[in-house]
Amino acid sequence: ARRNPLRVWLDMALWKQIFIALGLGLVLGIALNQTGNADIAASVKPVGDLFIRGIKMLIVPLIFITLVAGVASLQDLKTMGRLGVKTFVLYLATTAIAISIGLALAVLFKPGVGIDIGTAEAVQPKDAPSIADTILGLVPTNPVEAFATANVLQIIVFAMLLGIAIVMAGEVAKPIKTFFDAAAEVMYKLTSIIIAFAPYGVFALMVWVAGTYGMDVLAPLAGVIGLVYLACILHALIVYGAMIKFLARLNPVRFFQGTIEPALVAFTSTSSSGTLPVTMMSAEHNLGVSRRVSSFVLPLGATINMDGTALYQGICVVFIAQAYGVDLTTSQYATIVLTSTLASIGTAGVPGAGLIMLSLVLTSVGLPLEGIAIIAGIDRILDMVRTGLNVVGDSAVTCVVARSEGELDQTLFDTPHVLKAGE
Ligand code: ASP
Repeated sequence: ARRNPLRVWLDMALWKQIFIALGLGLVLGIALNQTGNADIAASVKPVGDLFIRGIKMLIVPLIFITLVAGVASLQDLKTMGRLGVKTFVLYLATTAIAISIGLALAVLFKPGVGIDIGTAEAVQPKDAPSIADTILGLVPTNPVEAFATANVLQIIVFAMLLGIAIVMAGEVAKPIKTFFDAAAEVMYKLTSIIIAFAPYGVFALMVWVAGTYGMDVLAPLAGVIGLVYLACILHALIVYGAMIKFLARLNPVRFFQGTIEPALVAFTSTSSSGTLPVTMMSAEHNLGVSRRVSSFVLPLGATINMDGTALYQGICVVFIAQAYGVDLTTSQYATIVLTSTLASIGTAGVPGAGLIMLSLVLTSVGLPLEGIAIIAGIDRILDMVRTGLNVVGDSAVTCVVARSEGELDQTLFDTPHVLKAGE
């Protein structure tokens, strides 16, 4: 008997839906671009924006509620300290490796040699914040303001302290703990409602990107584009693959399957913060990570861990140096690794943020900021893949940390995942 195509579509696993949507969007976008209909392609963007607004709506309450519930469920505070240290070390180490891969490939393939710089516009440099300001900035003076401005790091600090206070208050705080547990359940349901809309949002965003960027914009910079994509894929396969296999002792293939939904949503939305609700959902359903771990490690990662951004900055700096005919010294390379790590931590998980932070890295080695203008025209294309890597990196670290804490359900990890739209 033939099945109703609509039923087949609705019963399909979410990642397949998203994958199909992405492919169709790409084909339609290119067709519209080639036939001179870029304006039609641009006109579907609001459908994608609607989806993005929906997931953004979730971020503040989702992080806050699930993190309070997660911390309040910890038996002792030592566990939290250990979790924090492991998370930071892994986030920093993976970022430093990412930049090194970017630098090495850029030096090897020389994408910037022979590029015509033309007359680029001047760009305002961005100053690096001082360490004292960075630390002070972690503590909100008014939690409501932190919520209102979606300051994720401040929300994390407030939520953790509140969770700790709930543990310390003990018996009397039982109703509050129960409240946060129940609210977390509700937030996950709300998340699944919005995520069901992902394939349509992804389709619209893809039509828009593919329709807007013509070959004539991309062709001259095909070298950097190809290199950033290659480096991101290598970093994911080699570094994350090895982490999952040797540190977590799990099957890397299952890991990549399990993290495909957030990777695709990140790729099309170019925002790792925006993708966070999808990342948290898939960590729980596909990778078997406990909420206690995912509610802490993932929001932190979406804010500070950006392997894709760091790698992209490494490649772009070498690219710009080559385009201007500047030879970088060994100590300049070391400076790049350091400043890119810091810049990627300071990069917000929103579209295009990595490009702005590139100015910081360029300044640190005295390269002309005008170089940024060359990259700017194609930055969306680079943003897609680096954001995808940012999000997969967060998931990889989460798996390793959860596994080492005995907070990963291997049966769930090993079963082909079943995340369905609206689950
Ligand atoms: N768009 C990236 C992200 O959200 C940040 C960047 O621009 O590099 O992860």
